[in-house]
Amino acid sequence: MDYLKGLNPEQKAAVLQIEGPVMIIAGAGSGKTRVITYRVAHLIRSGVDSFNILVLTFTNKAAKEMRERINHICGPEAKNIWMGTFHSVFAKLLRVEAEKIGYPNNFTIYDTDDSKSVIRAILKEMSLDDKLYNANFVYNRISAAKNNLVGWQEYQQNDQIQADDHSSGRGKLGVIYQTYAQRCFRAGAMDFDDLLFKTNELLKNHPDVLHKYQQKFKYLMVDEYQDTNFSQYLIVKRLAAVRENICVVGDDAQSIYAFRGANIQNILNFEKDYPDLKVFKLEQNYRSTQNIVNVANSIIANNKDQLKKNVFSEKETGDKIKVMRAFSDNEEGKMVAEAIMQDRSNYSMKWHDFAILYRTNAQSRSMEEALRKLNIPYKIYGGLSFYQRKEIKDLIAYFRLTFNPNDEEALKRVINYPKRGIGDTTVDRVIVAADKHQLTPFEIILQANRYVEKAPASLVNFATMIQSFQVITKNQSAYEAALHIAQHSGLLKDLYEDKSVEGLNRYENIQELLNGIKEFSEREDIEEKGLDIFMQDVALLTNDDNDKNPNADTVSLMTIHSSKGLEFPQVYVVGLEENLFPSQMSLNSRSDLEEERRLFYVAVTRAERKLSISYATSRFKFGTLINCEPSRFLDEIDAKFLDLEKSAKPATSSFFDDERTAWSRKADSKPDTFSRPKVATAPSAAKTTSILAKAHVPSPGFKPSDTSNLQVGMQVEHERFGFGKVISLEGNKPDIKATIFFKDIGQKQLLLKFAKLSIV
Ligand code: ATP
Ligand code: MG
Repeated sequence: MDYLKGLNPEQKAAVLQIEGPVMIIAGAGSGKTRVITYRVAHLIRSGVDSFNILVLTFTNKAAKEMRERINHICGPEAKNIWMGTFHSVFAKLLRVEAEKIGYPNNFTIYDTDDSKSVIRAILKEMSLDDKLYNANFVYNRISAAKNNLVGWQEYQQNDQIQADDHSSGRGKLGVIYQTYAQRCFRAGAMDFDDLLFKTNELLKNHPDVLHKYQQKFKYLMVDEYQDTNFSQYLIVKRLAAVRENICVVGDDAQSIYAFRGANIQNILNFEKDYPDLKVFKLEQNYRSTQNIVNVANSIIANNKDQLKKNVFSEKETGDKIKVMRAFSDNEEGKMVAEAIMQDRSNYSMKWHDFAILYRTNAQSRSMEEALRKLNIPYKIYGGLSFYQRKEIKDLIAYFRLTFNPNDEEALKRVINYPKRGIGDTTVDRVIVAADKHQLTPFEIILQANRYVEKAPASLVNFATMIQSFQVITKNQSAYEAALHIAQHSGLLKDLYEDKSVEGLNRYENIQELLNGIKEFSEREDIEEKGLDIFMQDVALLTNDDNDKNPNADTVSLMTIHSSKGLEFPQVYVVGLEENLFPSQMSLNSRSDLEEERRLFYVAVTRAERKLSISYATSRFKFGTLINCEPSRFLDEIDAKFLDLEKSAKPATSSFFDDERTAWSRKADSKPDTFSRPKVATAPSAAKTTSILAKAHVPSPGFKPSDTSNLQVGMQVEHERFGFGKVISLEGNKPDIKATIFFKDIGQKQLLLKFAKLSIV
């Protein structure tokens, strides 16, 4: 068993214990994920059929990495393992079984935007006060109910829930929930929570189906178990009930999703559910230096609620943790960017060795500006993902409608885009008619002349067009069908005619999507390559998975929540300020504050060799400059591990007097998420212009040239985006994609065959 030699004795024992229930609750970086990976490899090497293994991970990315690793040890058998996030695995199962619970097999998956749009429509129809019944609030409420397996019927019958809703003046929530569920059902759509909720319903009410999957999944494994919610817990419990070959790994100190219903109780329940449970302890951290591990331990020791662990590292002591104080958020960005620049050259590191972690997405702005200023390439994880862009969602809505014409949200999205003279009033009439005649909106449109007053001819034409798409998808490959739909819907032409920089961008994004579909339809490692399968994958991509070019050499920026399970040689945790981290919302209860502290623990334990922490003494929030105090978490760290001297700068007397202000004001000249007040005393503020709004003027004599000999590191000029440097190239001719870092607008990925580029 040579393949197990990369494990310590405790890890090995956990890997070899393949029968019966196993639990590993251990500290960060102790090899929990590694144990799962090796365990799967060991199962296959011991003769277990790879079709009988189910592995549940927290991100698709983690699943992908694990599969590659297992493939390395066991070869192509790895392909057959059911491995992925709860949502993707059970969406796959529901595709097979949906008809048993009254859904079509080609059901649509509604994303959060779709769900909120349905809710908004219901609130409008019911004429409810949008302060009391805010769409986000209602969405979260329904989501929480589903994750606790409370359906709308139970919701309406539960006295406690009813009493709570009435006393807060929101007595209509039960009815909204019911209408929402019925609308989704009519549209043949499941939202994200339904993927788990309906799986539970299926397994509970259909013993034959439960039996089938209990027979199939003979071995189950769950990573990041501390962040499972009740609905997920119950699915696992049901599936494992017969054989009890279930192994869960997690760390209570890293439980950071309580706000989404994750429950520490699931760990405690596990011990009750399986009296024969074997528990393994992993204490050695293989990721980080001793200083980093000690700091992490000293942070988490402040939490009362925790299972005691003794985590240690045998790596070098390492540098002390650097604490940087900045006088503004912009200066904080500058300090971090300069430190990265310096360490990269001092220690010959790569950009991808660095990560900047923050509590809230909004903090990325000041970091981005500073990185851009120093020409440091970066990638933001968890920002607006490629698949959430408007033009991409528009085209995908056409695909959705083709496979499931009852998908009401997709229908509303594109029925009049590109414009075909179908106004809002007509759409409202269609919906009213659908309710009245108990038909779906699509069925109404098909017979618009019969059901809809003053129906424009384009209404029936639209339905006929969708039907023609259905024929195409049956007879052609995913790529051919997608291209046909993009062209015949009029979408491609509409984007082509928009000659602004943004328009060009959107057109290229569509090309990029089509290209992705082409690659997908030509893949050798999967059986099913239809457009419907492609769409399912897309619907379940999380922002963090949308890493189209994992090998690019860029600094990573992400929220701490997205950094779970990852590791980087150098980590910068920024914004350690009261009311930001810990967040203001967490200050009301001990349990919320403890969750923030666990989040800090997660952040700190991502670092392998060097950790830096920073805070600013002033920061713009919602357009106002506010003073900030250092986070209480800083005080909690034992000072002997900290390096305060080298970096802490003296506080400046006045924010706007300091000469460094000139730099930070200039950095404000890019468009940002806040609208900042204009400051008359800051001379550069007056010159504020938006770089993105104005296209680059090509150099005299600029001519796009043949870029077939383009190489990484070359300097280029783009007709619109200006000057940049090639960071990476991927794919084969003629579909080579180049990732280029443009001086003015940051990083972009371009398809060479379309890009108007010349080598300088
Ligand atoms: P987290 O709590 O952050 O999810 P984890 O417990 O899952 O961490 P892993 O990611 O599995 O930890 O391991 C952390 C790092 O230590 C990885 O780089 C892994 O390859 C390495 N590692 C784990 N065990 C060993 C070992 N026995 N020998 C060498 N390296 C190891
Ligand atoms: Mg892990």
